Amino acid sequence: MDRILLRFSEENVAEPITSQVILELGIPMRIVTATVNSSGGDILVEVPKVHVQQIVKAFQAKGVVVKFPKLIEVDSDKCIDCGACYALCPVDAISYDKDYSVVFDDKICIGSPCGLCVDACPARAINLVEQQRNSKK
Ligand code: SF4
Ligand code: SF4
Repeated sequence: MDRILLRFSEENVAEPITSQVILELGIPMRIVTATVNSSGGDILVEVPKVHVQQIVKAFQAKGVVVKFPKLIEVDSDKCIDCGACYALCPVDAISYDKDYSVVFDDKICIGSPCGLCVDACPARAINLVEQQRNSKK
């Protein structure tokens, strides 16, 4: 799956563009997070890699700006389980394991549209990386 960020403007935010594209293409998409108001906003969706170009073109044709957000990569060797990231995560993508080590859930994490934990980490254990877009999963 690929993650794409759909950026809506004040002019097109009131239109049901996301559902139109899903119906027109017949391709399921998972909405990861949405921050939208009457001035516009962003919707982060997860889409099948094999259909990503088709989906991007369909949204662009309707005036939506499409970006590929970066994802986080955690270096567990550097992590000292301090918990500074845990308190900041707006979507509860970070939790504690039974042994009090910190665990990241990449299905929930927003990635570069958020990035709060990256700057907060004192050990520099978290990086934002480009999505791997050459596999077919
Ligand atoms: S990038 Fe944001 S959403 Fe993802 S784990 Fe860090 S704080 Fe949570
Ligand atoms: S802020 Fe960095 S060092 Fe602290 S728990 Fe999170 S990833 Fe580990």
